Amino acid sequence: MTLLERDPKAAPAWRGELPVTSRYTFGLAGERFFRAIQEEGRILGTRCDGCARTYVPGTIFCERCLGELDKWVDVGKVGEVHTYTLLYEAPDGSQRETPEIVAFVRLGDGGLVHRLGEVEPEALAIGMSVQAVFKPIAEREGSILDIVYFRPI
Ligand SMILES: [Zn+2]
Repeated sequence: MTLLERDPKAAPAWRGELPVTSRYTFGLAGERFFRAIQEEGRILGTRCDGCARTYVPGTIFCERCLGELDKWVDVGKVGEVHTYTLLYEAPDGSQRETPEIVAFVRLGDGGLVHRLGEVEPEALAIGMSVQAVFKPIAEREGSILDIVYFRPI
């Protein structure tokens, strides 16, 4: 099909396949952040005392003053549900019998998007306290999925 044969009202998309490979590196801050999750079961942030902010996940520069950050702090395993959503559709397009719950969990002045577990959708509330549940250390791979989910406390 050429551009001239294309239905002008059709969605502008062409089907095809691209052979793409990629390699994602964590970077300096990500390396430290994920090693702490894998090896210590800790969630780390970086602190800017000048701006009184704790970045989670940790970063190497303060987004406000652009100062270099090298003060790593353990922000604990307990955060607060800032917002959440219920996923009724699986990645393969099938319908889930029970929705998966994904939340933004506030930790420090940042937070993590992650699954919630051990909670029914009816019990969800903005502001509820949740705690990270880690995989056993032998099963951790240095991934955000080393945290299985956050559960209410
Ligand atoms: Zn700062």
